[in-house]
Amino acid sequence: MYLSLREIIEVPGAFLPFEVEIAPEDLYFPSIERFSKPLYAKGEIINTAGVMNIVGHLSAEMVCVCDRCAKEFFSIKEMELNIPLAADLNDEENAEIFAVKGDEIDLSEILKTCFILDMETKFLCREDCKGLCSICGRDLSEGECGCVKPVDPRLAVLGQLLDIDD
Ligand SMILES: [Zn+2]
Ligand SMILES: [Zn+2]
Repeated sequence: MYLSLREIIEVPGAFLPFEVEIAPEDLYFPSIERFSKPLYAKGEIINTAGVMNIVGHLSAEMVCVCDRCAKEFFSIKEMELNIPLAADLNDEENAEIFAVKGDEIDLSEILKTCFILDMETKFLCREDCKGLCSICGRDLSEGECGCVKPVDPRLAVLGQLLDIDD
């Protein structure tokens, strides 16, 4: 969604409210299976002494896949927005700042990018998920399976060394 900043770009103290639903179709992240509904964002673009910021709130509801047990789980992400915009961007190293082209920004693109950048690195169905047994595949959060794990070869060597010492 393109948003014109014409009315606030030259007016320090001015702000432009927005409320937007963003279709998540082209939003891809490995551990996200699907979105339950469009991303929702509400806030305003504020011109503070000539510097523009998107401030507000974004929420998303999604079905994720647990990194440990591969089970699907429902997750809600709430995100505070505070995104600086730059009118003329000559500082290309500053990737955190989004450029205003002319007097327009592509608000949904910016929000989608921030959403992905803010993503957790680990997706767990619960914090203490024990994952699956590497031998029988049982969900270890539901109980131990009794499989005997092969001994780590490094530990086996250590065992031999200890035997020699005896
Ligand atoms: Zn899990
Ligand atoms: Zn097992």
